[in-house]
Amino acid sequence: MCDHKHLIDKNDRLVLPDNVVPSVYDLHIMVDYKSFTFKGEEDITVEVKKPTKVVVIHCLEIVIHSAKLGDQTACKIEYHAPEEVAILTFEQEAQVCESTKLSLTFDGIINDQNLQGFYRSKYVVDGQDRYVCLSQFEATHARRAFPCFDEPALKAKFNLTFTVPTHLTALSNTEEVSIKENTNDNTKTILFQTTPIMSTYLLAYIVGEFTYVEGSTNNIRVRAYKLLGQLESAEFALDVAIKALSIFIDYFGIPFPLTKCDHVAVPDFSYGAMENWGLITYRESLFLVSEKVSLLIKQKIAIVIGHELAHQWFGNLVTMEWWSQLWLNEGFATFMGSFVTDKIYPEWDCWLEFSDHYRAGALNLDALENTHPIEVPVRSSAEINEVFDAISYNKGSCVIQMIEGRLGDNFRKGLNHYLNKHSYKNTNTEDLWESLSLLSGIDIKTFIDPFTKYSGYPVIDFKTTQTPGTFQLTQKKFRLDGSAQQPTDPIWNNYIKIETASGSSEFILDKKSDTLTVPNFKQGDWIKPNFGQTGYYRINYDPAVLATLIPRIKSLELPSVDRLNLISDMYSICKSGDVTIDSYMDLIVSYSNETEYFIWNSICDNLSFIASLIQDQTYYTKFCQIVINLLKPISKKLGFDPIKGERSSDTLLRDKIQMTIGEFGDQEVIQECKKRFELFKNDPANLPADIRLAVLSVVVAHGGINEQQVLFDMYHKTISSSEKSCFIIAMAKSPKPEAICKILDFSLGPDVRSQDTYMAWIFTQTPFKPVVWQFLIKNFKALETKFPETRSIGRIISGSFQPKMDEAGVVEIEKFFIEHPVPSAERVIKQDIEKIRINTKWANSFIPTLGKWVEKNSSNNSYC
Ligand SMILES: [Zn+2]
Repeated sequence: MCDHKHLIDKNDRLVLPDNVVPSVYDLHIMVDYKSFTFKGEEDITVEVKKPTKVVVIHCLEIVIHSAKLGDQTACKIEYHAPEEVAILTFEQEAQVCESTKLSLTFDGIINDQNLQGFYRSKYVVDGQDRYVCLSQFEATHARRAFPCFDEPALKAKFNLTFTVPTHLTALSNTEEVSIKENTNDNTKTILFQTTPIMSTYLLAYIVGEFTYVEGSTNNIRVRAYKLLGQLESAEFALDVAIKALSIFIDYFGIPFPLTKCDHVAVPDFSYGAMENWGLITYRESLFLVSEKVSLLIKQKIAIVIGHELAHQWFGNLVTMEWWSQLWLNEGFATFMGSFVTDKIYPEWDCWLEFSDHYRAGALNLDALENTHPIEVPVRSSAEINEVFDAISYNKGSCVIQMIEGRLGDNFRKGLNHYLNKHSYKNTNTEDLWESLSLLSGIDIKTFIDPFTKYSGYPVIDFKTTQTPGTFQLTQKKFRLDGSAQQPTDPIWNNYIKIETASGSSEFILDKKSDTLTVPNFKQGDWIKPNFGQTGYYRINYDPAVLATLIPRIKSLELPSVDRLNLISDMYSICKSGDVTIDSYMDLIVSYSNETEYFIWNSICDNLSFIASLIQDQTYYTKFCQIVINLLKPISKKLGFDPIKGERSSDTLLRDKIQMTIGEFGDQEVIQECKKRFELFKNDPANLPADIRLAVLSVVVAHGGINEQQVLFDMYHKTISSSEKSCFIIAMAKSPKPEAICKILDFSLGPDVRSQDTYMAWIFTQTPFKPVVWQFLIKNFKALETKFPETRSIGRIISGSFQPKMDEAGVVEIEKFFIEHPVPSAERVIKQDIEKIRINTKWANSFIPTLGKWVEKNSSNNSYC
């Protein structure tokens, strides 16, 4: 149709021509709930900046029926799908003018596949199928719902009018101004208040049958909506939403600019949640709770609500100029999600969760060859989804944490300056650095650039010298595969907090190697570098330094976040080859008094992973017994039932420990799980949510077809999404190939929401991964059909790989994906293949050493 390009190349990105720029959208969407289509009319107030005969506007899967600019009707309406635009041509050249109207009529389909644009999501009330219709416009999907100038920097105000069936609730970013009943067709037309100036991706509208609970803070009405018939409660979410909003208003020092903030839970949602200004949408499982919901889920919910509310300022009020800076938006909100949850629930130790989840997640991925700098060029909309990955979110949040750790309260002051200065505008990363530098007197750009502009991070060798209190620090790029340093590797600017018996100090390592002298340090004193773990690097501890910390690990005097990161650093450095596995195992053994959930979580996961790499059966059994011995005291102490007055994290710990020790084969725990499973079969209420995953996982992992069948039946009976997830995870753990194929097959069917499918794949047991891989090959078409261009497919594919394989096996996988490319999961597949090669190399090198360690420790159980 058109062979020339319609977008223009500006600063290495493809954007709309700048001859016509919008300021206000008067948008009317008329929903037809029978055919699931919609009609639209819009008047866009635009400024014509250069004379033009052609207006290029984003438009995808929308049919434009008429277009007028001022009083001139378009003589030609064309589309160019690869660029996702419509091209409107006018006979006369429009002249430069400050304000005229671009008027369009159009229609489109409310899709039910992509969870993008304006889409519908099915739910069931009294056995009847019902639909909720809602928008998801980030990153570039507003163009699927109405023709628009769909770039974050093209901010405008929106006056939305929405025509929907009378009996349904309609919501948008702002409050309603008026409602008119249209008696002829049982519809109503609602006009919403004008929005603030904002980017198109933040507009939102929803129509469906909802109920809500309500509260307020600072004169802002806060509501938490859920679908009719949904039995789980929105009360907890409402409580968090009100508290977090109030904390943010105070912290940012800037009022929330809308009169209301709605939070809505919907069944199908491609992301966890979306920060639409004043109308935040969530996946039900990340919003609603029942008494069956575990504390971990509640913690996740609070963090997600905090994340989305932080965006109301950082992202919505001040917006990145272009998608290449998405990391800053997401990194900031991710950090603030934990920050605010910690303020509301200090007893939850959210920073430990942050360290376990975001920090470890970032450090693990960012040590691979197949990582990327968090600041990456994004040329076109097709490349945007690529940057919505764990690196952007997790490393981004660690970079923010590192700045906050160094700046303290000047961080908040700098933010306030930045948000005030750029309100309702767009910014670059440098604008934030400028505000933070101004308020702190520290050159933030020099400090942070190596972390944002390069991939990876340093490992710092922390060595003692002949002189007590003097240490030699050397940095190099950390590579998980242990490969050699490159001349192009950057030198990072590392801010290191040091804690010793005699006090705290700070050190900047901005050279390859430097000497640190700690005042008042005496021979034999303990020393902990990267105290508080806000630095985004790993530390390779001199054995002499580590030895001084062991008593503080045993006595739990070393703070929990430092205890966690010590084992995390040691484990990764061990994988890279710079620490031997017996040193790592000796360190782990010193954690036998540990009480924290996230620390045990990390220990359990790492030990399970190491076990999965051992093939010799006798060796494997001996290793399992050592793990059982290590976990036995804590398993006994926790038991299976809540202890009155226990810490909330003990509830999580109980589930994790009993699951791990049970899966490792502890007979006592297996028998207890079986006993409790019988009671559960009679009545699911007999098994509390907080121990459910452990009991069901252990029973299925050591069971057969019948145990899995019980869970299938339960799955169909429950309407709780968190219960459904728990059942899928447990069912996947079956040791019977036919049962594994059954759950995988089920995961692709209509009864499992596409956002949950991956669980069935990820949680299959390692020895059965070949079964999963064969299933994937056989069912690849079905997979591609269920997951067109979504991120979920990457996780599913990851769930089908063995952690360790010979080179021929890896080549077979590579070949398969050359023949069956999955563009949305390309990077994930490359990362997985790289991990398999690293694991294989690691296993081959550690197996003999670990074997000796196992022999030595099998006869000596003194540590437990
Ligand atoms: Zn976000």
